[in-house]
Amino acid sequence: MEFKLNEDQQMIHDLAAQFAQDIILPNIERIEGGEEVVVSDGSTQVQLPRDIHEALAETGFIGISFPEEYNGLGMGHVEQAIVIKELSRVSPSVGKALDVYILGLEAIDLYATPEQKEKWLAPCCSGEQTVSFAFTEPDTGSDPKMLKTRLTKEADGTYKLNGVKRFISNAGYDGPLVLFALLADEESGKDLVTGLVIDKFCKGYSVSSPWDKIGYKGSHVWDIFMDDIVVTEDQFLGKPGDGFTQLLGTTAYGKLGFTAVFVGTALGAADIALNYCQEKLHRGKSITKFPTTQLRLSTMLTYAHTAELLCLEAADYCDHNHFSNDDIATMRAVQARTAQAKGYAAETATKVATMAVNAMGAYGVCDEYQAERFVRDAAIAPNIEGSGDIQYLIHGMYVAANGNTN
Ligand SMILES: Cc1cc2nc3c(=O)[nH]c(=O)nc-3n(C[C@H](O)[C@H](O)[C@H](O)COP(=O)(O)OP(=O)(O)OC[C@H]3O[C@@H](n4cnc5c(N)ncnc54)[C@H](O)[C@@H]3O)c2cc1C
Repeated sequence: MEFKLNEDQQMIHDLAAQFAQDIILPNIERIEGGEEVVVSDGSTQVQLPRDIHEALAETGFIGISFPEEYNGLGMGHVEQAIVIKELSRVSPSVGKALDVYILGLEAIDLYATPEQKEKWLAPCCSGEQTVSFAFTEPDTGSDPKMLKTRLTKEADGTYKLNGVKRFISNAGYDGPLVLFALLADEESGKDLVTGLVIDKFCKGYSVSSPWDKIGYKGSHVWDIFMDDIVVTEDQFLGKPGDGFTQLLGTTAYGKLGFTAVFVGTALGAADIALNYCQEKLHRGKSITKFPTTQLRLSTMLTYAHTAELLCLEAADYCDHNHFSNDDIATMRAVQARTAQAKGYAAETATKVATMAVNAMGAYGVCDEYQAERFVRDAAIAPNIEGSGDIQYLIHGMYVAANGNTN
């Protein structure tokens, strides 16, 4: 066993770290403030500054783990995790933005037909369009059985889509929206969770103002209102009733992205604290001379590196355990790994970012010193793409059911 990135992985690591220093760091304020962009229905929406978005696309980061035939780089989940981690180390907002681009594309890559991939995956990998992935609704973020968004079949064979999706990242960008809705089975009347893709800003689509949240200020979330949107069957992912499996399958890989965001958040906060402590003098010597500072540095890095190892191990597991729609056993095994890593990384990000602030004293809570931005971003970690509690429940249920502690 070798604890070492291979040549390609090291190259992509260095590229992402350089990108973070050259493109993201000088633009932190612009990123956190957002940029107003006119979208296809003529409305103005706040987005990640376009030059940053375009740089992510041009470098190939948006399509990093998707096939080259759809404008991707054809790399794996390990490379994906490395890039998200290194960008999050400087800006968790940008890491989160990239992660949610990838989450929606993961659903399309896993479950769409080649024609659908050509239509939706290719323009998103190249950055021309931006995908969103919508599960959460006002009544639920954790329980698919509580979905209310509904597809209704019309006499002419088309469908009408109605409902509200809540806290949806990138809902104010043009591009495809992967979502989940209920559709009544024609024979039994039973509700089937169905995955589908619509174009954002089509007729019947509108968004709220972006939510004003504590962190990830550069990556925005909106509520989506869907009012009699016309849908045709070629917009379905798979068949009616596949949606629940598609949701689990997409987020099984998808949890890895947020794991990497949280690991990057922890490492970034530790970087800031270490730099500050090295420079801050007490009676002419750096405050790293204090055993309390050394204890904090060691604790921060021990948590962060443990989370990083779990993240990379889960990423490697994803790359060696591909699953198709009906391979539920592999999907559950992947989900257990990524859920465990995500739960631990979320806890780590919040602990380490708070510790970084405390290592810096009052300077830690002042925005000029940046550590407070990491605390605000880390506060969201246990509350996104499934709560932190639910991650441990998923992992624990898998371990209990399989009697497997590996
Ligand atoms: C910045 C941001 C971006 C987001 N982007 C997206 C997006 O792009 N797409 C999207 O679909 N969603 C998105 N979300 C929503 C997010 O995924 C949900 O908010 C999250 O899954 C939690 O759901 P909830 O808020 O409804 O909480 P709930 O599901 O209501 O949970 C509330 C509390 O109850 C606990 N709980 C709930 N059910 C159980 C249970 N069965 N057993 C034990 N405890 C339970 C939870 O652990 C939590 O502590 C985003 C949220 C944020 C903050």
